[in-house]
Amino acid sequence: MVEENHLTWHEGKVTKHDRETLKKHKGAVLWFTGLSGSGKSTISVELEKVLHGLNVHTYRLDGDNVRHGLNRDLGFADKDRVENIRRIGEVSRLFVDAGIVTLTAFISPFQRDRDMVRSLFQDGEFIEIYVKASLEACEARDPKGLYKKVRNGEISQFTGIDSPYEAPASAEIVVDTEKQTVVEAVEMIVGYLKMNGYLA
Ligand code: ADP
Repeated sequence: MVEENHLTWHEGKVTKHDRETLKKHKGAVLWFTGLSGSGKSTISVELEKVLHGLNVHTYRLDGDNVRHGLNRDLGFADKDRVENIRRIGEVSRLFVDAGIVTLTAFISPFQRDRDMVRSLFQDGEFIEIYVKASLEACEARDPKGLYKKVRNGEISQFTGIDSPYEAPASAEIVVDTEKQTVVEAVEMIVGYLKMNGYLA
């Protein structure tokens, strides 16, 4: 037991390694980042289906799901975005500790926040996936009608318009959804996981 600030961390008798061994694969977080409408949700949903079919234990954390519950007290000001990502990072860490391949789909626009989340994990556990698409393409798709609302002045502080998006400097995987189909993007990510020993 380690005591710090009157908090006690009680060591268990089952380790992350034990849980991974039982599941026959490693735990990791697949951290999708990109503009709204770039394809994070679409690709992560399809990828999860494929991974599940490969007997991989998965869980998906998606922007809107989390904002309806855990983070419903947060808005879109910079400090709220930082806290949003910090909490999601901590939740992801718990899932990875459980030995689960965790897929997160959040715009997560700031490099320092993504780096902060990366620092919560051991080497190789945090896989940053940049879902790349131009603002023009995302706005043309506008799957949730959000860009239209921004242009009508109904939403402000929108990433890519009046709030910045910092593209990852060194993402493990880059998918370009203006050039690759959803199926191709999924194949690329599964290929990465196989090649790097994440799957049995
Ligand atoms: P995000 O989660 O990044 O906000 P969504 O996945 O909700 O984005 O929306 C992306 C939209 O773009 C969907 O309507 C999807 O069908 C469309 N789309 C077109 N081409 C692609 C592609 N190659 N990859 C992913 N999505 C694509």
